[in-house]
Amino acid sequence: MSAVCNSDFTNKRAVITGGAGGIGRCIAEAFLAAGADIAVIDLDAAGGDRLAAAYPGRVLFFAGDVADETVLEDFSQQVVDRFGQVDYLINNACLTRGGVLSGCPAEDFNYVLRVGVTATYLLALLLRDHFAAGGSIVNIASTRAVMSQPDTESYSAAKGGIRALTHALAVSLAGRVRVNCISPGWIDNAGVITDAADIRQHPAGRIGRPEDIAAAALFLCGGQAGFIIGEDITIDGGMTKQMIYHGDFGWEFTVDS
Ligand code: NAD
Repeated sequence: MSAVCNSDFTNKRAVITGGAGGIGRCIAEAFLAAGADIAVIDLDAAGGDRLAAAYPGRVLFFAGDVADETVLEDFSQQVVDRFGQVDYLINNACLTRGGVLSGCPAEDFNYVLRVGVTATYLLALLLRDHFAAGGSIVNIASTRAVMSQPDTESYSAAKGGIRALTHALAVSLAGRVRVNCISPGWIDNAGVITDAADIRQHPAGRIGRPEDIAAAALFLCGGQAGFIIGEDITIDGGMTKQMIYHGDFGWEFTVDS
């Protein structure tokens, strides 16, 4: 998988959380293809090792949990020791642990917030003084920041949090680091969704691909995005823009008797 990139990121250094798999892996490979060296932190040690082996000398892989503050401190120190300065930080790692219907306990709820929100803040704090001129942070949120299915409180709260954190950081770091956000809709990481209704319900006529998100991350980090600050870009094939009424465009609502 690769994203088309018009930017040359040779000699740039990108830090990517959750870069060993899924969308993060695609973002990682997009930055590598654009010429950047990268540092990745991920729980998936095997996936991270595979990524590093595929790009000898260009990937600093750190196996660890971004929910752990001491892990983030160790990772950031390794990044600074290796790179000196950082150009881009992509806060991508997240997960869900359900919500109020399945009885998600405080410990799990707070864990999701630590991964999705607190780690994003702490990495900005730890790397704040190590960004090169023209630096950029891209946070990966979700359309679930603004809409929900039942039992998704832990995830939706984290995604709302990272979106708000984005504009706060953008204002605090203005003049030093541009901070923006991407809110993906449904992204089919494995390319396995074949159900016609799943696909055609999207105004775009398809489900999202990791490359859609990687391309936007590259754009937001590039020089052409220099006037974009504190923004959230929704990339969802139009799903959050389509008005839904029973009987319209094939949408049906079934009333349980
Ligand atoms: P994924 O589960 O496929 O991959 C997430 C990666 O992050 C994995 O490599 C995982 O090991 C790593 N990770 C998870 N928790 C971690 C932790 N505590 N510390 C370190 N690494 C950790 O997820 P994805 O679908 O690629 O999603 C990537 C981002 O995009 C997430 O923020 C997700 O919320 C967001 N997103 C995804 C979709 C989608 O449809 N796939 C939609 C909207 C938003």
